[in-house]
Amino acid sequence: MKHLCVIGDPIEHSLSPAMHNAALAHLDLDKEYVFEKAKVPSAELAGFINRTRKGEFTGLSVTMPHKVAVIPFLDELSQEAKIIGAVNTVTLSGNKLVGHNTDGAGCVMALKSAGVPIKGRNAVVLGAGGAAKAIAVALALEHAGKIFILNRTPSAADKIAATVSKVSGSRIETSGLERMEEALAEADILINATPIGMSGISPRTAVPKDLFRRNMNVFDIVYEPMETQHLRDARMAGARTIPGVEMLLHQGAVQFKLFTGRDAPLEVMRAALLEGKQ
Ligand code: NAP
Repeated sequence: MKHLCVIGDPIEHSLSPAMHNAALAHLDLDKEYVFEKAKVPSAELAGFINRTRKGEFTGLSVTMPHKVAVIPFLDELSQEAKIIGAVNTVTLSGNKLVGHNTDGAGCVMALKSAGVPIKGRNAVVLGAGGAAKAIAVALALEHAGKIFILNRTPSAADKIAATVSKVSGSRIETSGLERMEEALAEADILINATPIGMSGISPRTAVPKDLFRRNMNVFDIVYEPMETQHLRDARMAGARTIPGVEMLLHQGAVQFKLFTGRDAPLEVMRAALLEGKQ
């Protein structure tokens, strides 16, 4: 039996085991693979990766707080992981540990499967943390026309811009949140990559509701609740909305292919995620 595992701290509420195990069972791979979860405090990360190198696990999904800290323990990084400087997936290939980042690809696939074109379009990204960086890089690799990053701390947005400007010809601009109205006036795509909107987080929304327009595509990567205030306001304005669970699904689908070599059964994985959220 090959063991796959999601590691992080905390990890209790991770939906990854339900999503991956449903996919493995659907493809009759559940005699060959099992997907587990492990709470791994930072002090135990090195030891856990060492067990993986010895073959105890053939693939890891890596979540907070280890996405950057895991890098020194790996032998190789994919192009995306190298550019982003963070890893959410580790595979054991021979005796080499390879780090990948599927977060940005997950966001791009969620947009594309909702019918949202990216090439040449103007995207606004709210936030400049780990998820925003993966998303901005992925949008640039898809040749978005312009990427406008707004963040409470503008210097963090500037750092992402410096990375993004190295990977493609997308125009890039940064600012604090005060230029929201100007940024959204020309946005085809708006992505909230801050925790604003998550259950228990205040404020409920970062975007005044009169700034949403019919012809916008609004993605909120927050997935708890399923429909955040951003998405509700955008839907009421007639915009197309994409919930955060779609990024979770598609980043998991890319991981599944890396782990097993098989195309992910998306509908089965989506159903498992939605059931796990209830
Ligand atoms: P992170 O690295 O901690 O970054 C958080 C970002 O949000 C920072 O830019 C921070 O601004 C900003 N922010 C936080 N609280 C804010 C507030 N009250 N007002 C304004 N800005 C605020 O977090 P992350 O890993 O990027 O994750 C961000 C969110 O995405 C989380 O809710 C996470 O659960 C979700 N996520 C979802 C998926 C998915 O698959 N759907 C994947 C990854 C992450 P400063 O720079 O000013 O601190």
